[in-house]
Amino acid sequence: MKKEDISAVKTLLSVPKRIIIVPHRNPDGDAIGSTLGLMHYLKLNNHEARVIAPNDYPDFLKWIPGEDSILKFESQRTDSKKLIAEADIIFTLDFNALNRTGNDMAEVLEASIATKIMIDHHQAPDDYAKYMYSDVSMSSTCEMVFNFIEMLDDTDKITPDIATCIYVGIMTDTGSFRFRSTTSRTHHIIADLIDKGADNTEIHNQVYDTNSYHRLQLLGKALQNLKVLPELNTAYITLSQKELDEFNFKKGDTEGVVNYALSIENVVLAAIFIENIHEGIIKISLRSKGDFSVNEFSRAHFNGGGHTNAAGGRSEMSLKETVEKFIAILPEYKTLLS
Ligand code: 5GP
Ligand code: MN
Repeated sequence: MKKEDISAVKTLLSVPKRIIIVPHRNPDGDAIGSTLGLMHYLKLNNHEARVIAPNDYPDFLKWIPGEDSILKFESQRTDSKKLIAEADIIFTLDFNALNRTGNDMAEVLEASIATKIMIDHHQAPDDYAKYMYSDVSMSSTCEMVFNFIEMLDDTDKITPDIATCIYVGIMTDTGSFRFRSTTSRTHHIIADLIDKGADNTEIHNQVYDTNSYHRLQLLGKALQNLKVLPELNTAYITLSQKELDEFNFKKGDTEGVVNYALSIENVVLAAIFIENIHEGIIKISLRSKGDFSVNEFSRAHFNGGGHTNAAGGRSEMSLKETVEKFIAILPEYKTLLS
């Protein structure tokens, strides 16, 4: 963040404000952790702060301190719209374009005259915020929330609740501290968060070790459906709505499944295609190793985006047609995939 913006934000936050904090649609650990961490911090400083998520999120996030205060725009529209209309400041966290909150919510956010502040680590941010803290080199938006608190000279105010929220997002967005975006600074921050009261063992346990039997059965099905294209160093998984229904699919059950495809020897590009009959789309998650940019690939072909090694997208064609399109495009990228 620019020096002059930091002092402007400091001044802005020097008197109590009504503040709304928004993560992206289908929020993940980084989105929920960063918004709640920031909420707790702002409340300490006497602001009225509230998180409004576009829609629901997985059960494995439903223990994070303050989580029960989150409003969901999709199911609590009247209250959400009222709070957005009354807000002095809107923070948008962990996304780079208002349409990542869904078309309806994006319209309401666009119409608001509140001062908008973006904190985000995705590529190619849109220019809707008055103050932007955008840095694609960051492991997570949670790491940036820590930096943001540091810029405001307030790290000594970090409570165990704030530390827990920030820890969750750094942990989930770095694949438990192993992706390339993980730096020594990330580890220093994590150490500091543990000192400030984040219970690391308990957090890992809550997020990763609370599987349902059905979720593991669904994982078994996904692994059976795994296909490898050895010539193209690519692997992909499909899950049809019928298969999801068969295993009692709940939001979050497919989180991380695409990484099994990426873990195969020599594979540099992995994808999972998940049918969503209700929304009439195929949700796509893409992962890569090395320099192959799934962000660019998804922008070019699947109406999505994200980071170099992790991106998402969607298709309005059938599951079969979507996979056929994917396979048909790949030869164009043969040199980049080798
Ligand atoms: P995931 O595959 O876990 O849903 O998402 C991986 C990364 O890509 C995340 O950083 C997420 O924010 C981003 N992403 C996922 N879906 C979309 C999408 O539809 N559009 C854009 N622009 N980014 C996405
Ligand atoms: Mn993130």
